[in-house]
Amino acid sequence: MKHARCFLVMILFLFMLSACGPMLAEAGLGFSPVLHATRPNEQGPELRIATLTPTPTPAPTPEPVKLTATVWQAIPRVPILMYHRFDVQPGATSYAYTTSLSDFEGHLSSLYEAGYSLVSLQDWLDGKIDLPPGRRPLIITIDDLFYGDQLSLDENGEPAIYSGVGTLWHFYQNHPDFQFHLSLFYNFGDKQYANTYQNGVFLVTDGWRQARAEAIAWGIEHDAVPANHFYRHPFLNQLSPTQIEWELSENDKALREALALVGKEALAEGLPNILALPYVVWPATEAGKQVLYDYRSPEGVPVAAILEADEATNAKLLPAPFSTDFDRWHVPRINARWGAIDLIRSLKDEISAPEICKLGKFDPSHTERPKRIMEAIQARITNGRCPMGLYMVNDFIFQADSNGVTQISP
Ligand SMILES: [Zn+2]
Repeated sequence: MKHARCFLVMILFLFMLSACGPMLAEAGLGFSPVLHATRPNEQGPELRIATLTPTPTPAPTPEPVKLTATVWQAIPRVPILMYHRFDVQPGATSYAYTTSLSDFEGHLSSLYEAGYSLVSLQDWLDGKIDLPPGRRPLIITIDDLFYGDQLSLDENGEPAIYSGVGTLWHFYQNHPDFQFHLSLFYNFGDKQYANTYQNGVFLVTDGWRQARAEAIAWGIEHDAVPANHFYRHPFLNQLSPTQIEWELSENDKALREALALVGKEALAEGLPNILALPYVVWPATEAGKQVLYDYRSPEGVPVAAILEADEATNAKLLPAPFSTDFDRWHVPRINARWGAIDLIRSLKDEISAPEICKLGKFDPSHTERPKRIMEAIQARITNGRCPMGLYMVNDFIFQADSNGVTQISP
């Protein structure tokens, strides 16, 4: 028994010695981190192999990219609402061009429930329509900015709940698929900005220019984008072409000076150039109108559209820019009262919502090749998985009908 135990110890000792072999070898090669890997019961050899012959890093294979198209079976058309001032007092009543915040919230809820989501006016004019599937497009514009009741920032730099833009911002936080895009038509030369809100009253106090500039910058950074409504809100039919030109350029200049005040003049790059006519009044002469058509922003951007407006009884929708009845010089808007909201709700079956067509996986170098995308669209239509219609894929727009797939834009 005693011999047997001794023999067992010998066997164990030999086993440990053999186990030490690789350890020493590795130590001699200087791979000290692997030493612990050969302790009994661990899988030393595999780790040793991995360490001794490091696997070269393979060249990364590009991940295939999934492409999805937004498909419209009819030409997209959008209602554009026009707001002005907001009455933030509890229990306020809306009138003419002032909307109570409770009515505004009611408008938003009502339109959201009817399936509408906001799209950006400048994107629409560029033919880019970004909507969650199944949602219908809606554009909201506000005129005559900047007033505190329209856009104020609170002490945290967030849009204040006691302003129209803030109300919309908070609605969007609770309903992200409503999206957040706004066009703000401003006149810089006819008012001060109330930067203080106390006991339900807006007041102009020291630092109002700075506060206004911060609010504007927040807007641009969050797609509540300023656009030109002429410096002093004039009747254009009473101005000479030179005066009209001055009204536009002075307004643009003042906005850029405001951005410079808060060190954010770079935000002017990329601003759209869209005009809204004060009182929906055109210049009296052709020369005056030509000033509008030819006007360029300080960054050299040509005018993308001129906005008009009407009451709900004469409401018109704006078709997508590739439609034959699109007219960029007469973009219709609807004065945003309950009648307009009810009308837009009633149109929900006429205002088409896009569908989604999954085009499959693409080699990343092929996602910018329209020919590849067109082939994928045709294949999906042929096998019945996607409908004919307008296909929007990244920045491309294609038309797919019984004649095949053609590229419309760019
Ligand atoms: Zn106006």
